[in-house]
Amino acid sequence: MIRFENVTKRYRGTKRPALSGVDFEVQRGEFVFLVGASGSGKSSCLQLILREESPTSGRVAVLGRDLRSIANRKVPYFRRSIGSVFQDFRLLPSKTVYQNVAFTLQVTGASRGFIQQAVPEALALVGLSGKEKRLPHELSGGEQQRVAIARAIVNRPQIVLADEPTGNLDPGTSVDIMQLLARINAGGTTVLMATHEAAFVDQMQRRVIELRDGEMVRDEVGGGYGDTSNVPRLEPEAIRGAAATAALQTVREVHRQTEAAIADPVPAPAEDRVLAQTQTAAPQQPTVKPADDVRPATHPITIPAVDLAELGVADRLGLDTGDDEEVGPVS
Ligand code: ADP
Ligand code: MG
Repeated sequence: MIRFENVTKRYRGTKRPALSGVDFEVQRGEFVFLVGASGSGKSSCLQLILREESPTSGRVAVLGRDLRSIANRKVPYFRRSIGSVFQDFRLLPSKTVYQNVAFTLQVTGASRGFIQQAVPEALALVGLSGKEKRLPHELSGGEQQRVAIARAIVNRPQIVLADEPTGNLDPGTSVDIMQLLARINAGGTTVLMATHEAAFVDQMQRRVIELRDGEMVRDEVGGGYGDTSNVPRLEPEAIRGAAATAALQTVREVHRQTEAAIADPVPAPAEDRVLAQTQTAAPQQPTVKPADDVRPATHPITIPAVDLAELGVADRLGLDTGDDEEVGPVS
């Protein structure tokens, strides 16, 4: 789904590379923390995934495509398969909550019917039903970030990238945002979250990729944050610990529910159960179980059909890359 092959990124006029020899692969449906101190290269990784930057050497592949193979004018369409969330929310200040979320879809030429269905659904998912008419400055920071998340997911991207999404929020609100990202991930969306917030990562027991001075020093499934002694802390440790514990419990509950759903997808009729039992002795047949799609063991590399459809629509509407600058992530 996301693959870095020996990626080095050197910005013009800098001595040390921002990333050097970074190699990892994120599978569909994973929740991955990208951690490391400020300046370790987290945002650079996300910018490479969005093709806001290109590697100096090495290769980045996303959704089965080598990003070098995407023509510049197609980049905005490629970016539409990725939802992005940032520390500073990046909402359009003069547009309402509803308009902020709908805007992405309007620019991509979605039908009015789809917009009328998708926007309220996204707002409901992030818990903002009833606040459609508010302007961003009439919302709390946490609510603004939830609008940004609704905007990121409204066109159902396969990947959500979050760059320090809790960086401007207090611990309690950060828990809500983590819970939300965990829920989005539980729905099958791949989530890659850059953070230097040790407490969350320590306790969430998810995959952790750690960068130090641009080098990958750890890729651990179910890891903690590692050596946190150099990480500056903005809030008292006790508060952070409590917030992280609450986040952990919430996330575990979401995953317990998801795993229960996977283990026992649909209460099968009795005769199916008998059939399933008799089949276990026979050589394994591929059985059709929709819930298995939630977490495929392999890593299928696909170009989503919706991309192609969007291309057609966008081309017909004559949208150019300029349009996307307002919607897409800006560096
Ligand atoms: P992080 O997100 O972990 O704080 P960044 O990816 O932003 O790290 O930065 C990694 C390194 O690259 C830092 O040394 C930073 O100063 C440098 N850097 C990032 N963006 C640019 C840029 N556009 N031009 C020059 N140097 C940059
Ligand atoms: Mg950063």
